[in-house]
Amino acid sequence: MSTASLSDPVQYIKGIGPRRAGLLRKIGITTVEDALYYLPFRYEDRRSLSAINRLTPGRLWTVRGTVASVESIRTPRKHFPIFELVITDGSGILRAKWFNQPFLRRVFRKGQEVILSGVVKVNAYHGVGFEMENPEYEIMDGSGSDSLIHTSRVVPVYSTTSGLGQKTLRSMLYSIVMAGPAVQDYMPAHILERLGLVPLEEALKNVHFPGGDMIDVAALNGGTSPYHRRLAFDELFIYQIGVITIRQRMTGQKGISFSAEPALTEGLLESLPFTLTPAQQRVVAEIFRDMESGRPMNRLLQGDVGSGKTVVALLAMLKAVENGYQASLMVPTDLLAQQHFLNIRKLLGDMDVTCGLRTSRAVEGPQDADIVVGTHALIQERTAFRRLGLAVIDEQHRFGVRQRALLRKKGMNPDVLVMTATPIPRTLAMTLYGDLEHSVIDELPPGRTPVETLVVAESERQRVYDLITREVRGGGQAYVVYPLIEGDSSATLHSAERGCQAMKDLFPDLRIELVHGKMKAEDRSRVMDAFRRGETDILVSTTVIEVGVDVPGANVMIIVHAERFGLAQLHQLRGRVGRGRKKSFCVLLYYGSPGEDAMRRLRAMADTTDGFRIAEEDLKIRGPGDFFGTAQSGFPELKIADLVRDSALLRAARQEAAALLGDDPSLERHPLLRERVNRVWKDRVEFFRTV
Ligand code: ADP
Ligand code: MG
Repeated sequence: MSTASLSDPVQYIKGIGPRRAGLLRKIGITTVEDALYYLPFRYEDRRSLSAINRLTPGRLWTVRGTVASVESIRTPRKHFPIFELVITDGSGILRAKWFNQPFLRRVFRKGQEVILSGVVKVNAYHGVGFEMENPEYEIMDGSGSDSLIHTSRVVPVYSTTSGLGQKTLRSMLYSIVMAGPAVQDYMPAHILERLGLVPLEEALKNVHFPGGDMIDVAALNGGTSPYHRRLAFDELFIYQIGVITIRQRMTGQKGISFSAEPALTEGLLESLPFTLTPAQQRVVAEIFRDMESGRPMNRLLQGDVGSGKTVVALLAMLKAVENGYQASLMVPTDLLAQQHFLNIRKLLGDMDVTCGLRTSRAVEGPQDADIVVGTHALIQERTAFRRLGLAVIDEQHRFGVRQRALLRKKGMNPDVLVMTATPIPRTLAMTLYGDLEHSVIDELPPGRTPVETLVVAESERQRVYDLITREVRGGGQAYVVYPLIEGDSSATLHSAERGCQAMKDLFPDLRIELVHGKMKAEDRSRVMDAFRRGETDILVSTTVIEVGVDVPGANVMIIVHAERFGLAQLHQLRGRVGRGRKKSFCVLLYYGSPGEDAMRRLRAMADTTDGFRIAEEDLKIRGPGDFFGTAQSGFPELKIADLVRDSALLRAARQEAAALLGDDPSLERHPLLRERVNRVWKDRVEFFRTV
């Protein structure tokens, strides 16, 4: 007997109504479907009833008894209302009290049968006997135990908001789930069978109010119950249907086929002071193959910090230029754009290739340069390209699909190469960049010495000063980096300025300079150039140097307030040293007693310099949603699946999605699934539009 359909507003469900629907809207629930997918974050086992004389303090118990007395009192001084109840079950008496819920006076009556569930404490007032504070309750009205929602079962706990109590929310979700909405299973039966997945309706119902005798509470709490597994699979599967489709749509389009005749690329290779590593050679070949094909390239180039992505990008750009096209390189910050611009001009030497810079602060080089380096300014309306053939995007995680699409519009379906120095764990790459082909530079250029990482408490900062003194005397150079102070860039700057002054006081005979994001571009490049030439001993900075800065002579990186940085950022910063022949050090200087997660990050940094392991660890600590700010990436957010826990499920989802699309590319034969995919991906991507 199905009444509601998934798209119905919850308001029309029996027992909800307009006022309660308003409360649900506060947590993002408007339709029955929203409600079904609003999953508990935790479950409490309140199945077994205990006799009152068996209770022990300090844990959750559920008891059943008769109300012996009810009493409303007020705290002596603040007149805070307290409602007290005493119940008996023949074995003993238990007191329950609720603070600030005077309406309970009208709920309980002497003689009622009730079930209470809560943490048991020793009675605070009398010092003898037990009590529960603010227990969850249920009043038995003789209709049997089927309708118990809050006690005597495995009870879901939801995240809620002020004005919406846990109990109210749970009751509403119960009404909705039990209204028996018509859940149609859109998943092809052979997939469910192959993976042993439960039907959708069963999953959605039981994930809220698990029933049956075989409930595994640990699995529910760990997100590995059959219900979670089914819903996680669906999420990953639909995600994969999306990214695979985007990819196929793009590769299905006609792109530029660049000729394989090398002119400029050969020249560059000959003029380089080094030879490419085998890994670089391999990825260059992969990129060239894409560029020579008639389909548009859409490739992700992963390579750890310092692995030499720039020269790979430059080779690709020169290939476009030697074919008569323009190429662009888009980076996230002005400083980085400036750096790349200078670096590329240097690498180009006296080749007949023009290079331009476009940022919000600076415009250099000819209007229609062969290679244009820039920031977001590149995708803004006023930047026009004569003949854009290749768009390279560096440090991709700050650009999403939308930005990629904008850049694409600047050319005649140019090839796109996305580069990231943040190593992405495979599972995440498969998800976030499932629409891209992958190339990986998995080795560093020869001659690098591993960086020694020290985790140092602020109270021992003398060690840091000694290290700086020793290394600078020995001809090294140091970075001292201050964190971004949340919400207040002037405070960040202030702390870096103060830090710089403190350094000058400590080391009066050393050459110390400050660089930060608010400086004029030319001042900044003057400071950076001096540092690069070895004319500065210590460079104090805000996080502007986080990405891309390349000064081989620098061998000490001091990260102040390291506890405030994320792992990816710490890894990026550490990557600024260890680029020359001198042994390098990275000091993670922390203040106070950082929380558990912060210490885990610092330990992970000390344990390994392998970017991929760091990324995996980061994913574990932060969780995938946060990892890349998926919200702005233009991809749907994963709410149920956990990329670390569910990596096997992700692989299965990818396989099944690819197989299904191979068979039915527009999901014409799977209309229910197609509808679900469109709903999940919303307007993010033009999908399966029904014509
Ligand atoms: P990233 O991948 O972090 O962008 P870069 O492109 O900045 O790395 O390269 C880091 C440094 O390594 C640069 O100084 C670059 O000139 C140098 N480099 C790149 N490839 C090689 C190589 N094959 N052999 C030696 N040095 C190299
Ligand atoms: Mg780089």
